[in-house]
Amino acid sequence: MTFALFCCFAFMKIQFLGTAAAEGVPAMFCDCESCKNIRLLGGRELRTRTQVLIDGDLSVDFPPEAYVHSIKYGFNLAGLKYIFVTHSHMDHFYAHDFILRGYRYASGFGSPLQIYGNKEVAAVFSECTRREMKPSVAPNVVMNEIMPYRRYLIGRYRLLTLPANHSLTEDALLFYIERGGRGYLHLHDTALPEEGIYGYLSENGAKASLVSLDCTYAGRTGINRPRHMNIDDCALVISKLKAAGVCGADTKFVITHFSHNSNPLTSRLALLEEQYGVVAAYDGLQFDI
Ligand SMILES: [Zn+2]
Ligand SMILES: [Zn+2]
Ligand SMILES: [Zn+2]
Repeated sequence: MTFALFCCFAFMKIQFLGTAAAEGVPAMFCDCESCKNIRLLGGRELRTRTQVLIDGDLSVDFPPEAYVHSIKYGFNLAGLKYIFVTHSHMDHFYAHDFILRGYRYASGFGSPLQIYGNKEVAAVFSECTRREMKPSVAPNVVMNEIMPYRRYLIGRYRLLTLPANHSLTEDALLFYIERGGRGYLHLHDTALPEEGIYGYLSENGAKASLVSLDCTYAGRTGINRPRHMNIDDCALVISKLKAAGVCGADTKFVITHFSHNSNPLTSRLALLEEQYGVVAAYDGLQFDI
């Protein structure tokens, strides 16, 4: 029994709660053929906006569905200690909700929730909470600014930040997150990242057991990809991570953040899984690494 408990604790638990790009799948205001079909099929074909939950107390990004995710997957947002925010786009950082962490809206939630994000994320936090944040709630949510190519120790997590290739107006971030010798690499949202990330990860001893990759365009080739990747880009990133020694034979690669424009049916993604040796994420997919 003791041994089993120890094993459970040692694993890092990674849950993909949402796996769609900003507009959702089906897209919020869309009546294209792909969205119509996905509405009819339902189930695993439905995708909410991107959120990854780690060990129940760390969330990468906080989409508009964060509350719905907590009900659907049976966890309590009161247990969340940290949020690492990749960038300020609304599908990754829905800051209005933070006014609810106190007053008559919430109790029993422990120490202040620590949010980590770039300067633009901090600006969005201020904008979205300005009108409704009660003075008694404000100390319960703390915004911390972080920058690319930095090392942080946050609670029991080691965090390396990397620059994404995603926005001209902010330093969007990618994350390597480690706990107890287990490593998770979070590579979205981004187009092909700059070459410097591979050396930085390697120099800082990053060893990823699980990598999630921006595959917004899935199998679409021959299109302009300034902010996101397709499967061929993902394959190139994977080969560079392996060459840098950040990933090995046992590393799992997950593709995610799909757009309705890619018609991301599970049956179509299964073909990419087979051809490229990746796992296509769906809402609720979970790993113990
Ligand atoms: Zn996004
Ligand atoms: Zn559509
Ligand atoms: Zn974005």
